[in-house]
Amino acid sequence: MSPFVLSVPEVVTSHYVIATSEPPADPYAVVPWRVPEPFRKPAIEALKTPRLGIFTIDAGEATWRLDDVLACEEDRRRIRESSHQILLVHQALTVEQPHREQVARAVARALADATGGVLIDPQARQVLLRDGLARAERGWFRMGDQWFGTRYDVDEAARRLHPPGGDPTACGCLRITLLGLRRFGLPDLAIDKVACAQDLPALNLLRAVASRLLTDQWRWCRERPARPTRRLDDHPKIEPDDFWAFWGATPYLDGRPVITRLVTSSATTLEVAPPDGYAGTVADWSREVLAPAMPPVVGCPADEDSAHARSAGGGA
Ligand SMILES: [Zn+2]
Repeated sequence: MSPFVLSVPEVVTSHYVIATSEPPADPYAVVPWRVPEPFRKPAIEALKTPRLGIFTIDAGEATWRLDDVLACEEDRRRIRESSHQILLVHQALTVEQPHREQVARAVARALADATGGVLIDPQARQVLLRDGLARAERGWFRMGDQWFGTRYDVDEAARRLHPPGGDPTACGCLRITLLGLRRFGLPDLAIDKVACAQDLPALNLLRAVASRLLTDQWRWCRERPARPTRRLDDHPKIEPDDFWAFWGATPYLDGRPVITRLVTSSATTLEVAPPDGYAGTVADWSREVLAPAMPPVVGCPADEDSAHARSAGGGA
């Protein structure tokens, strides 16, 4: 194991897009009273500064792609048919995240509410859901509240080599990228050569690694906010608690720690790989190590949501 150095940007940028056919004459005027506590006062302050800007354009003038975001058919249609896009551009000091980002997203949600629009998070490449317990920003930051999206890239050449009748958990045709970390000053995380029939353990490892890196980074920022680089262990031991912290949930299934290897592949991406000395493929590692270690959970409510559902008579 050896340390490696991660650059931590002083300032991070993010965008949110609201696709709407009812653009407000003055978007700044509709925002503050629609932003709930505890974000209202910081939102009003941020809107007075250049670090939070709102721009409305004709949909035909947009230069960014929205056709590949994760969305339901109804939202896709609404995005396609919208006449305007409201762009929210946000800048924050990395040391002030994630609170600043929550303020920005609370403003974006307020704009979407005011205009009957579809709220898109281009960095995570997904539409924010209007329904459910996570529809309003929480007072605390829960990573599982749609902050991170996924991109699945299939290596078609590898997929063509699938042996007919062969073991579907043995191929390596899939690359999974966890998106949305850059607004918090971290690279995206990717795992390559995953078996397409067994993607969940690999995806859950990415979520657990993200949880660990974010938690460590925020602690590091609080202690030494002026440093541009951070030393990391390139073979971190990821604990089941890192996975459950992502969802803000108390563990209800067993898991095991996993030693993984982090490799810098570009300025914007960190590869998550089997540790040095592991002789098999990523598919072998996923089957032998990740599947028994990572709880087979696609998503789960936060503890406070479960308590809320119980008190509302919704069952455990
Ligand atoms: Zn495959």
